[in-house]
Amino acid sequence: MSSLSKNLDDIKIEDVLEKVRSYVEDEEQIQVIQKAYDFAYEKHKGQYRKSGEAFIYHPLNVAMILTTIYADYETISAGLLHDVLEDCDCTPEEMEEVFGPSITKLVKGVTKLSNINFSTENEYLIDYYKKIIVGMSEDVRVIIIKLADRLHNMRTLWALPEDRQKIKAHESLEIFAPIAHHLGIHKIKSELDDLSLRYLKPDVFYDIAEKLNKTKIERDRIVYDMQNEITDLLNEHHIPHEIKGRSKSIYSIYNKLDKGKKFSDIYDLLALRILVNTEQECYLTLGLIHSKFRPLPKRFKDYVAMPKPNMYQSLHTTVFGIEGYLFEIQIRTYEMDEVAENGIAAHWSYKENKGSGSAANLTSTTEQKLQFFKSIIDLSHDKMTNEEFVNSVKDEVLNNNIYCFTPKGDVIELPRGATPLDFAYKIHTKVGETMVGAIVNNNIVPLDYELQDNDIVKINTNKSSTPSKEWINMAKCSATKNKIKAFFTKNEREIYIERGKYSLEKELRKRKLVFSEFLTDENIEKICEDIHVENLEEIYLAIGNGKATVNGVINVIHKEEDVTPKVVKVNPKSIDADIIVNGIDKVKVNLANCCNPVYGDEIIGYITKGNGITVHRITCHNLENMDERIVDVTWNSNTNKRYLTCLLLHMNDNENHVLDIVQSVSMMNISVDGIKVIDKGDHATYELDCYVSSLEQLDKLILMIEKHRYVEKVERAMK
Ligand code: MN
Repeated sequence: MSSLSKNLDDIKIEDVLEKVRSYVEDEEQIQVIQKAYDFAYEKHKGQYRKSGEAFIYHPLNVAMILTTIYADYETISAGLLHDVLEDCDCTPEEMEEVFGPSITKLVKGVTKLSNINFSTENEYLIDYYKKIIVGMSEDVRVIIIKLADRLHNMRTLWALPEDRQKIKAHESLEIFAPIAHHLGIHKIKSELDDLSLRYLKPDVFYDIAEKLNKTKIERDRIVYDMQNEITDLLNEHHIPHEIKGRSKSIYSIYNKLDKGKKFSDIYDLLALRILVNTEQECYLTLGLIHSKFRPLPKRFKDYVAMPKPNMYQSLHTTVFGIEGYLFEIQIRTYEMDEVAENGIAAHWSYKENKGSGSAANLTSTTEQKLQFFKSIIDLSHDKMTNEEFVNSVKDEVLNNNIYCFTPKGDVIELPRGATPLDFAYKIHTKVGETMVGAIVNNNIVPLDYELQDNDIVKINTNKSSTPSKEWINMAKCSATKNKIKAFFTKNEREIYIERGKYSLEKELRKRKLVFSEFLTDENIEKICEDIHVENLEEIYLAIGNGKATVNGVINVIHKEEDVTPKVVKVNPKSIDADIIVNGIDKVKVNLANCCNPVYGDEIIGYITKGNGITVHRITCHNLENMDERIVDVTWNSNTNKRYLTCLLLHMNDNENHVLDIVQSVSMMNISVDGIKVIDKGDHATYELDCYVSSLEQLDKLILMIEKHRYVEKVERAMK
């Protein structure tokens, strides 16, 4: 158990102040803490904790925990006040009057987190994660106070009934300890781990504790001897240093036992930490130790040159020490040690904050350094369902991650199971989007290769390459998946907008309206209101994706009657034909099978000799030089017929994609009449016959087919 867990029942505010004075010089700040204590004392008067002591001991202990990680005066004051808003007769306004907005905001943040009636039910969990993340992105100090609060509650957990103990212990292990880890606050993390285990698996906990106790004297002797050997070695080379015997947490031993190791293997592994002044001395020390004690292969890790994303720096090695015992040795500078113990909190130490008077630089600079923050803030911005959100927080933020390296040695943190795709997107979205391959430890790997801890990953890109839809399934992180999806939605959107604009232009031309005159600001506003969109781009989008029709849009400004006086006289409802021939009823009409017009196409009639009227698309090349025999025709909007259409699919390769295409066409509820390969070159061409209800549906179909990676282009056949 770490030194933090001392029972501090008789702790006084003077103890807290004394500790704060060791790193805060400004007496005014000290007085604020005193005032916060007096305020909390008055407010909590008469309240008692389940453990029997006066309530004020809880906030007092929280404040004491905060001093061990050198929290600033605002955080400590808020720690003292953290339960006042929730449990006492005090409004935020009253608090703000006394303590100002900054401290009040912290207390409000902590209160918000506590207000959730937390259970393991999913709904609450989602809420909880979201609030934690919001809290983090607003002010990380809120979370640090919450961690101190939880740590003290865990220390006094014995006062709760057993079922509550288990729930709290479980939460601490699943949520709070990982957060402390990500913030790099090792002190709090390891104590939370140990306390959780003590309540979740008391048998295991006490068994390990007892075994450790039994072997303690022997272990202490060996460590002591090894320590002396190293001290002599370093003194010989004039390296000033300090050596600490390091006790492993019970939880970490439990974890190793859980992975199948024997207790004897674990306790044989003795641990030492060497602190020196400079980075250079770290490496010198390592060299000296390796020259005297044989290192165990593959156990050396250099987190000095390549710090972990939570800023941890240290050299790790395992050597065969005296009497053949294995020793785990950490070598780091004093400064690195402070970061390793206090994590993010180490960076608000008084040295850095002198003059600025608050932890402002903690919330700005340090957060930027932490990839962890970036990743959760990214997560909360991504569009995802609540369930996806919880899963990704669990997978990607709270779970143990792997660390991979770029060829230059930058560390990229990824969840277990991540692939080179995740790696590439994590470096930069652009790198991901133009990725063409990956090389891991000098071997070419597939894009869905599962990366391992310490892999060196090189991503090959090609500027003109774009993502493939299959990537969504190959990526592990939801952030990656979302980025890939976003690429496609963005592309779709652009195509729709282009199409919408094109249709509008075409229809305006047809109605002899001038584009720029039609799209005045006033008209755009009217249309937006009518079809419930925000701006011109969205009007195009609505037309392009079929949410609005081009005629509907124009009719908002110009009623169709005004511009097309040659309107059909026949009541369309009275006729069952799908084509109306300029007012003539009961005439035989055929759809031309060279260009296969569908409802919505611009069409024209061609009077044949003795076989009625054949209807072509206006663009059909068979109509050239037939001017005098042409007659105006329009679609009867009252039809629900389906029209045979013929598409030519130009492929990127010559593999067989027939089944895939038929499947995806059927998914759109479009029936396929036939599909055949008409050209088998390097780039195959397919002919697809199918039935669609309208041009609108046909456009969607074309767009959908074009999205397949293997499809180069789709066009309507014209025979
Ligand atoms: Mn509390």
